[in-house]
Amino acid sequence: MAQHQFQTEVSRLLHLIIHSLYSNREIFLRELVSNASDALDKLKYLTAADDAYKQLRFEPRIDISFDKEAKTLTVADNGIGMNETDLIDSLGTIARSGTRAFLEKLADDAKRDSNLIGQFGVGFYSAFMVADKIEVISRKAGEDAAWKWSSDGKESFDIESAARDSQGATVILHLTEEGTEYANRWSIEDIIKRYSNHVAFPIYLTYEEKEYDDKGKEKSSQPKTERINSGAALWRRPKQELKDEEYHEFYKSLSSQMGGDAGEEPLFYVHTRAEGALEYSTLFYIPKKAPFDMYNVDYKPGVKLYVKRVFITEDDKELMPVWLRFVRGIIDSEDLPLNVSREILQQNKILLNIKNASVKKLLAEFKSLADRAASGDLEAKDRWETFVGQFNRPLKEGLYQDFANREAIQELVRFKSTAEDGASGWTSFAEYVSRMKADQKFIYYISGGDEKTLRASPLLEAYRAKGIEVLIMDEEIDDIVIPSLFSYRQPSGLHTEGGGDKTESLSWELKAVNRAGADEELGEKKDKAAEKEAKPVLEKLKKALGDRVKDVKLSRRLHDSPSCIVADENDPTLQMAQMMKAMGGGMEVPDIKPILEVNGEHPLVESLKDIDDEGRIADLAGVLLDQALLVEGVKLKDPADFVKRLNRLLAL
Ligand code: ADP
Repeated sequence: MAQHQFQTEVSRLLHLIIHSLYSNREIFLRELVSNASDALDKLKYLTAADDAYKQLRFEPRIDISFDKEAKTLTVADNGIGMNETDLIDSLGTIARSGTRAFLEKLADDAKRDSNLIGQFGVGFYSAFMVADKIEVISRKAGEDAAWKWSSDGKESFDIESAARDSQGATVILHLTEEGTEYANRWSIEDIIKRYSNHVAFPIYLTYEEKEYDDKGKEKSSQPKTERINSGAALWRRPKQELKDEEYHEFYKSLSSQMGGDAGEEPLFYVHTRAEGALEYSTLFYIPKKAPFDMYNVDYKPGVKLYVKRVFITEDDKELMPVWLRFVRGIIDSEDLPLNVSREILQQNKILLNIKNASVKKLLAEFKSLADRAASGDLEAKDRWETFVGQFNRPLKEGLYQDFANREAIQELVRFKSTAEDGASGWTSFAEYVSRMKADQKFIYYISGGDEKTLRASPLLEAYRAKGIEVLIMDEEIDDIVIPSLFSYRQPSGLHTEGGGDKTESLSWELKAVNRAGADEELGEKKDKAAEKEAKPVLEKLKKALGDRVKDVKLSRRLHDSPSCIVADENDPTLQMAQMMKAMGGGMEVPDIKPILEVNGEHPLVESLKDIDDEGRIADLAGVLLDQALLVEGVKLKDPADFVKRLNRLLAL
């Protein structure tokens, strides 16, 4: 027997593991199983690639057993195994740079947050969280000698000659008092199902099956061996091999784990396997219904991270952008180390690349569904409409959160419009543009209020009369998203008219119709003469309304209604101000004054020319302003005053 000293870093690591880490201990089993799985992978590769190993009888498996009385837990595999040198090198030193970082982090951390170990994973050595002595009996494939490594995890380990029937490694943990909770069938099954269910090789658990007589006394006890992992990592199988039902089954198990509706089928799924610079598989599902917590700040993320089929984490919000938080599924990387920490995940290049590629893939898939729906595929149309109904809003968030994908998202978001009616009448920017009048420069929209109020707004009259389409933006988020968007830029591939060598992308500014300046293209009514003629009326109104308005102007957007209000170009609209007030939270909401616009051809406005009685002017002015506010859904400050004025005018 020969004694060896641990490398200094290992001693330090072991010291910290034994003395500082108390929670999340169960991950030791995940680490041992994934070491075993790696060892099996290595041998499997050799038996396929190396003639010297080809005749080896090899049925890869991992065996777990335990002995309550002896307080041991054993993990054995028939993989590549280790010889004397391997044991000294692998289980006496630390090769990974990540471990060093882990050590530093632990040493720095005053609180010694024991969760760290779960995040980092420190491989084999983590078993010292639950054991005060570990033995490893191993024989390397292709060699006859076997060796035993043993240690109490302090300063040193021993190596001695041993016996083993065939190649592989057997890791025997002598459990500490607290560690004995793992010498238990149910906790082992539970841990394996949680972390290692999709490990490619079968994992067997051997336990004593006991029979009791009717007095409750043990009658007999027999060892039983049972497979405890499913092994089927669906996402790693080729797409062509898989049926819809299998995908749906898997979705159900996923969504039930996440507390979703387990009976529900997904709306659709996207399965990708990348081989090349990066090797990974992703399987994403789009649910039929938005997750119940989609609008909570602390929503539960829906994507799980695996590394080589080993479960790593399911509550990392970094795996998907916030605006795609409704996506469910898994990412399984071949290139990430098993011991990725949360901090490392956030800056990890590999993961970032996978994430970016996944977002692009999902966007392409959404677009293809939209295109199929538009081309008359009824089934696709159905699905697309469900998709829009559920997820249009988070996609809109993407417009201002995800600059890199803005162009793609712009093609996916949908709006209601004066050209479309009914509940499912959605339109895209591209469709709007395709219907635009030849000389139209802007994309018009109206926002701030519910759909019904917006559709009834007098502001739309002149646009309707001229056949100009206006988008109805009735969602609160529109008032944040659309101004930040500023314009719609069409990808160069999309526009067809003109043909030829037009390759630059076209862009149209977005204009709110309830703002000053959006009426340029309506032209006509604002000729000099009309302006001059209306001046005295405007003066009278301005005087009567005083500081209730910012200005009174002659409108060119009104057709039937006598008046309307608009916001000054850089002011928030009144509806926005109202919303901000309702949201409260100590937000300082400035008192915004609207601009009153009047229709010079309306009899009510025309009648003002000949009226000089100040009381009547005040009544008319008040009614013109208040009715304009009312139709825009703005609450009147003094409704009684409005009613009084109205009644006085009616009495005439
Ligand atoms: P990691 O697995 O991250 O490399 P570990 O500390 O868990 O770190 O293991 C160190 C090394 O020990 C492994 O890289 C491997 O070479 C060897 N090893 C551990 N367990 C086994 C096993 N069951 N069979 C063969 N080799 C093993």
